[in-house]
Amino acid sequence: MGKRIVIALGGNALGNNLPEQMIAVKQTSKAIADLIEEGHEVIIAHGNGPQVGMIQKAMAELTRSDPEKYIPCPLSVCVAMSQGYIGYDLQNGLREELLDRGINKGVATVLTQVEVDPLDPAFQNPTKPIGAFMTKEEADKLVAERGYNVIEDAGRGYRRVVASPKPQSIIEIESIRDMVQAGLVVVACGGGGIPVYKTEGHHLKGAAAVIDKDFASCVLAQQVNADTLIILTAVEKVAINFGKPEEQWLDELTPDQARKYISEGHFAPGSMLPKVQAAVEFAESAPGRSALITLLEKAKDGVAGRTGTAIHQ
Ligand code: ADP
Ligand code: MG
Repeated sequence: MGKRIVIALGGNALGNNLPEQMIAVKQTSKAIADLIEEGHEVIIAHGNGPQVGMIQKAMAELTRSDPEKYIPCPLSVCVAMSQGYIGYDLQNGLREELLDRGINKGVATVLTQVEVDPLDPAFQNPTKPIGAFMTKEEADKLVAERGYNVIEDAGRGYRRVVASPKPQSIIEIESIRDMVQAGLVVVACGGGGIPVYKTEGHHLKGAAAVIDKDFASCVLAQQVNADTLIILTAVEKVAINFGKPEEQWLDELTPDQARKYISEGHFAPGSMLPKVQAAVEFAESAPGRSALITLLEKAKDGVAGRTGTAIHQ
């Protein structure tokens, strides 16, 4: 029986620059097409670290060239641009791979706004560095004129830091569900989604923040009523004592075991920790739901239960 699967693609699925992304997406499309060929319904979410960094840097250069004409581009707009560009590459790559296998299925990207809580404590403590390194003068100017938060980054210069609030809900969820129902392969919540918050009336305002793509994928998987959340990354399995002599790769993990390992500090914040947290939250969100963390190339084997770390109750 085909499952409804939300796939969260990590950085290695997209590469670090334009030519890398073109090559990486070919491989990524094969891995995704393998699942579609087996009769699964697939919804794709993805990260955008290098891409949004590139766009943000380009827009900042534009402002530098003529500050009167080009006011700084809001981060929410940079995220939207990255969703469009990555969605284009995925639509192009997947269409070709599916047609090569005789599968005639539409692939469509939904520019996705994700609601965050303006009172999220993350806004009081911005920690996520984004964009290019700046001189002290450039940094001071942005702090004074635009209220940016900046940090001095390990002697390499100054960088803007933004908040990483928790995703609350997906604004375009009805459209995403309708498209999945219609048989389309949907790309949504790219880069964790465009962070927005409600102001007066029906207005949604873009937030100067970035949402973790693993957490956004978890909300997406719950809201489309997926059976499985697959987080595809650069390791085949989750380990305890990662990188140490006693390193141990895990085939299975219950939410209780995961919580224990989290409290013992086995998963690095900002990389493996959000994945394990997202996997646990999804696995506990309803009976029968499970999560899988594995290598991009192993997605098919992982779904068949042959590899990866499965997280379920
Ligand atoms: P992605 O772009 O897929 O989100 P990240 O770099 O954020 O990738 O997270 C995946 C990385 O987490 C792995 O490549 C690995 O180096 C690192 N990692 C940290 N702790 C662990 C652990 N306990 N088990 C496995 N990998 C870990
Ligand atoms: Mg990551």
